[in-house]
Amino acid sequence: MFSHLVNLFFPKSCAGCHAFLLSNEEVICTKCRDEIPLTNHHKHKNNEVIQKFYGRIPLEFGATFFYFHKKGIVQQLIHQLKYKGQEEISSIIGNWYAFELKDIPELKQIDYIIPVPLHKKRLKKRGYNQVTGFGTALSKSLNIPFNEAVLYRKLYTETQTKKNLLGRIDVVDDVFEVNEPNNHIGKHFLLIDDVITTGSTLEACSRALLKIPEAKISILCMAMAHS
Ligand SMILES: [Zn+2]
Repeated sequence: MFSHLVNLFFPKSCAGCHAFLLSNEEVICTKCRDEIPLTNHHKHKNNEVIQKFYGRIPLEFGATFFYFHKKGIVQQLIHQLKYKGQEEISSIIGNWYAFELKDIPELKQIDYIIPVPLHKKRLKKRGYNQVTGFGTALSKSLNIPFNEAVLYRKLYTETQTKKNLLGRIDVVDDVFEVNEPNNHIGKHFLLIDDVITTGSTLEACSRALLKIPEAKISILCMAMAHS
């Protein structure tokens, strides 16, 4: 009753287009759900994610759910998720994607879902890792354990970072490290993140995981930058 009254006076708006949500809509309106550009990567073995990492990381499986365009719905969703405190977007995308992925045979071989670890400072500022909801939703639906403890991000020190020409810090290989690598020999890890752009962070995470003998890597992300 109370929430109905709240909605009446303070209607919730869509995280994608900011239109008011109808009572049967949750976070993302029906129009946005229909218009979001889907990649259908999971239906194609040699898809753009596999191609992106070709020669960099040997992937068992790779896919993203959406295409990310500048000023598009997906950019809005990711912006709300990362900078406007709308953490629930993460699990909504995860549940939606899990429904599409439930019959993918490669995913049945996976031992752990692993999020790209967030830098501690950023975690403190945001209050949550933006892919945790995505990962736990996938974990529940696909029945694969979600594990945030396998991979961790080392604290930056001068020797581990280098600034690029724009003065921004480039991710270098030894930023990520594995906890107790001997406990994970031969495991298949599904690395998850929000948006793939250059893929350098996922590559650095994969390299750390591939130091484990006979480890296998797959990648699943919410979206992929697309021009
Ligand atoms: Zn919308």
